[in-house]
Amino acid sequence: MSDIPILRLNQELSDKIRAHGAETYPYECCGALLGRDLDAPTAPSSEGASLASREVTALFPLVNRRDDSPRNRFSVTSEDVRDAEKAAREKGIDVVGWYHSHPDHPAKPSQFDQDHAWPWYSYIIVSVANGRPETMTSWRLTDDRSQFTPENLQIAGKDAAAQSAP
Ligand SMILES: [Zn+2]
Repeated sequence: MSDIPILRLNQELSDKIRAHGAETYPYECCGALLGRDLDAPTAPSSEGASLASREVTALFPLVNRRDDSPRNRFSVTSEDVRDAEKAAREKGIDVVGWYHSHPDHPAKPSQFDQDHAWPWYSYIIVSVANGRPETMTSWRLTDDRSQFTPENLQIAGKDAAAQSAP
């Protein structure tokens, strides 16, 4: 097992993701995480290189284009990816992940999420219960796409991996 990678974002961005989830409730919100890797992974080892810590410095909210089942799934189109990458480039940073909400469901990746995710990116999920944002978690898909592994989500320097709104 490699170390759990750290994903940092500040309180303001955390609040924005939560607010977006509350705003689109009972539908899922989604958006891109823009930022950068903080340190290059150490020399690749046979056990698998440890993953770099990552910092999110901006968000790029997207419109959930699913019209079949917007309550429990979202889709990121190739157009969305292009737009998010353009926005990131203009700021001199990269698209490092994606966020979405789980209305009335736990902040854990669904099978649909796993089937539609890409390795390398960070995936933030915020659960929204009765319109109120609650737990926020972050995940990365393994390279073989077999499972999501948790990231250590740090908000404004605090360890917030299991943080819930009061
Ligand atoms: Zn999901």
